Amino acid sequence: MTQSNGENPQRTRSGLRQIRDGIQSRSLRAKKRVENITKHDVKGFFRRNAFVIFTVAAVIIGIILGFALRPYNMSYREMKFFSFPGELLMRMLQMLVLPLLVSSLITGMAALDSRASGKMGMRAVVYYTTTTIIAVFIGIVMVLIIHPGKGSKDEFTKQQKIEQVSPADAFLDLIRNMFPPNLVEACTKQLTVNDTLFTLNGSQEITREEVIPVPGSVNGVNALGLVVFSMCFGLIIGSMREQGQPLKDFFDCLNEAIMRLVAIIMWYAPIGILFLIAGKIVEMDDITSMGGQLGMYTVTVICGLLVHAIFVLPTLYFVVTRKNPFVFIGGLLQALITALGTSSSSATLPITFKCLEENNKVDKRVTRFVLPVGATINMDGTALYEALAAIFIAQVNDYDLNFGQILTISITATAASIGAAGIPQAGLVTMVIVLTSVGLPTDDITLIIAVDWFLDRLRTTTNVLGDSIGAGIVEHLSRHELQSKDPEVGNSVVEETDKKPYQLICQENEYENEKPADSKTKM
Ligand code: ASP
Repeated sequence: MTQSNGENPQRTRSGLRQIRDGIQSRSLRAKKRVENITKHDVKGFFRRNAFVIFTVAAVIIGIILGFALRPYNMSYREMKFFSFPGELLMRMLQMLVLPLLVSSLITGMAALDSRASGKMGMRAVVYYTTTTIIAVFIGIVMVLIIHPGKGSKDEFTKQQKIEQVSPADAFLDLIRNMFPPNLVEACTKQLTVNDTLFTLNGSQEITREEVIPVPGSVNGVNALGLVVFSMCFGLIIGSMREQGQPLKDFFDCLNEAIMRLVAIIMWYAPIGILFLIAGKIVEMDDITSMGGQLGMYTVTVICGLLVHAIFVLPTLYFVVTRKNPFVFIGGLLQALITALGTSSSSATLPITFKCLEENNKVDKRVTRFVLPVGATINMDGTALYEALAAIFIAQVNDYDLNFGQILTISITATAASIGAAGIPQAGLVTMVIVLTSVGLPTDDITLIIAVDWFLDRLRTTTNVLGDSIGAGIVEHLSRHELQSKDPEVGNSVVEETDKKPYQLICQENEYENEKPADSKTKM
């Protein structure tokens, strides 16, 4: 007892000394490092991170500018003038999406043999399904726990008429859109069906009224149709070997040229983002007048998206790859901010490509294959939001949902997120399907319109994050196929630059075949 009492202070002192020495040596090293930082290093750091620094600065300035201009009560016309630089960015990015989507998918599929692309596709589909189901689950749990729809419906004022769409017709539409009858039209339009009440005159003088789906179309790229076509086309070109080489080269070159355009547009992106954000803040309704239920609903959606984006997706990435997910996310910062600014995952696609390929060094064979598909069908944020919003509307209406109805909401929310286009507020449109599936009033969508512009930005950012982490995970899982010396896989566009042209290799091989007799004798 006495011995231990006598030893303890000594041990503690030596321990403290060790800690002190450790801290001193570490601070000395840090000091040296700081002293060794030259102007050149600082410049290098700013040059490497220029885009990210500009983009973050643009968001901050945009928010400050937006709030500073709100008191001036700008007219609608003035607001449109003010947001004009932002509108230009949206248009520039959208301009690139179509050729980028088609060329990247075709070259991506053509670079892999059918076995490799099949495996990679399977992994991507498993990832998309898993994360979407988790997202829907988080949305449901959040809304049931927080219960933001407590109170009466009277605090909501705006109510408009929203057209009904039956889930079965919407589902058929999804499949119809996969096979566009006219490829040129698919670049500008997609199919939609509206239910309309018709009075049918029966042959036996019976007049009956029936709701009949009327086929129509809305403006916008039919991304799903183009994705399906490009994947099939790329796969066929890949299997054609030498015969398909000219087309492969053509789309590869097209893709490269588009990416160079993206590199130029990226310099303009911070300015565009600044005005997009500032313009939206100037335009938005007064937040303080927002009702308690709507405020709670907003908080619930934000919490759900944060859990999915900051906890679930990074954990999944870490578990599969054993790499630090936040370093990976750091490389994506510009794409995430662009998603926040544009609220369109498809307009963000060019920037997502750049971030993944240049900052995170993800193999181009994976990004070209996984990203366009992900941007079209994988929308975790949208799925989470659709399930959550539908249950919120049920709560506002004092409508008790049973387990079967919650399950129906989960399934339709997943389908609705697949069907939603990667454009601003597309999720709000596909919400109709979810509400109709459990008999909730579709007109109540207007209750949440006031905050949707804001939540849309957050769910788009989650969508882009989900697609990007998916590319990282699929690359890790497919590393063996990507490394394989399989001639088809090796024919990758990635190695194309440091590979000799195909013809040159053939010529060399012919030369090698002719050479041996002579050379062997000399050896
Ligand atoms: N704006 C979202 C996106 O582009 C879709 C949505 O409205 O949820 O990803």
